[in-house]
Amino acid sequence: MIVETLISRYVRHLNQRLMNFESSPGEVQLPEPDPDKQYLLYLHIPFCVVLCPFCSFHRVEFREDKATQYFQALQEEIRQVSEMGYKFGEVYVGGGTPTVLPGLLAETLELISSLHPVTSVSVETNPHDLDETNTVRLKQAGVNRLSVGVQSFDDRLLREMERYEKYGSGEEISAHLKNVSGTFDTLNVDMIFNFPHQDEACIRSDLGLLTDRIKVDQVSWYPLMTSSSTTRPMEHAMGAVDHAREQGFYEMIVRHMLDAGYKRSSAWCFSRRPGMFDEYIVEHEEYLGLGSGSFSYLDGSMFANTFSINNYLRRIESGKTSVVRQRVMSSLEQMRYYLLMQLFSGQMDTNVAEKRFKGQFDRVMWRDLAGLRVIGAVREQEGQLRLTESGYFLWVVLMREFFSGVNNFRDDMRHNISRESAERSGDFG
Ligand code: SF4
Repeated sequence: MIVETLISRYVRHLNQRLMNFESSPGEVQLPEPDPDKQYLLYLHIPFCVVLCPFCSFHRVEFREDKATQYFQALQEEIRQVSEMGYKFGEVYVGGGTPTVLPGLLAETLELISSLHPVTSVSVETNPHDLDETNTVRLKQAGVNRLSVGVQSFDDRLLREMERYEKYGSGEEISAHLKNVSGTFDTLNVDMIFNFPHQDEACIRSDLGLLTDRIKVDQVSWYPLMTSSSTTRPMEHAMGAVDHAREQGFYEMIVRHMLDAGYKRSSAWCFSRRPGMFDEYIVEHEEYLGLGSGSFSYLDGSMFANTFSINNYLRRIESGKTSVVRQRVMSSLEQMRYYLLMQLFSGQMDTNVAEKRFKGQFDRVMWRDLAGLRVIGAVREQEGQLRLTESGYFLWVVLMREFFSGVNNFRDDMRHNISRESAERSGDFG
């Protein structure tokens, strides 16, 4: 527990620095692309039909007219960055709910494939959108990994999350998943553990459904993560979060998933076969995020796009990109970010790290690496730094803290929109 607390503090500190985007007086420019590189493209679709109380992502209530304008702007932004010379090999579409307008999503993916040599496309969705017409259309548009946000199959929890009415009961969701199983190369299901009213029996039942009944290809088991703004509504709707239960739940999940023949793709993602997984930021050090509320990591800088949808539409219409903030990272910050992301997958190749940072990684990072060895979180094996079993859980805590920090930054950005809205009527977030 002491180790977890210390490590959490360390990540919070790293986060505060990483997310400390300065407001720059002029326009923020994206760097020139490396002509020899294929980047990962992330698209954010911030619309949802249900606004779940625990969720801190950038999402707003779905309105068809606004979402249609948004997709058109996104297509324009894709053309802009393509003209700048960016090349994409993989696409990840997250949200929000990317499938709120499946026809426009498919059209957007086809536009990308017409401009770039795309080999894999991953799309997030909700159980509600898993009908045959949508899945066929998405498959035709090149989607090979579909990631469905289920969170839990327990009806009580689904009601508390206000998802039951819209997305159906656990039984109905499981039937939808079974229908779509086998359509895509990878069907991933996103689950959450450590909801206040979730107990071991509830998680055991979800595990059995996923691995024995639906036989899903991949499961991402996220620890519950909140932000400053969602803690209160979350407590009101679902009860108070107790982080002390996290480790027991995690160990139970790991045991079950490994016994059922799944392998860990990351500290919280389990796959039957190798394939894409949710944390694209682990597999792709550099990525470009388009759309309102996206982040990019390029050339040693973090970039953040506007969180105001109206501002996004205006910017794209006037030929600007959606990027409004930049944070230039020091070499130490880049190395710590690299270590955090690489070890999330379970291992880091020390020679690759040394090469990536021009022979400076071990010299600069010796304190961090020694600390991880002393607490028994990592061990070295044939040039690989690998997480130990306790290291895996530590990384769950670290990544929870990391994403909670990102969520707090999202809160700040949304707060700025409210201020902007008050100043200029007509803006909405
Ligand atoms: S959990 Fe998913 S469906 Fe619910 S508000 Fe967040 S993004 Fe939307």
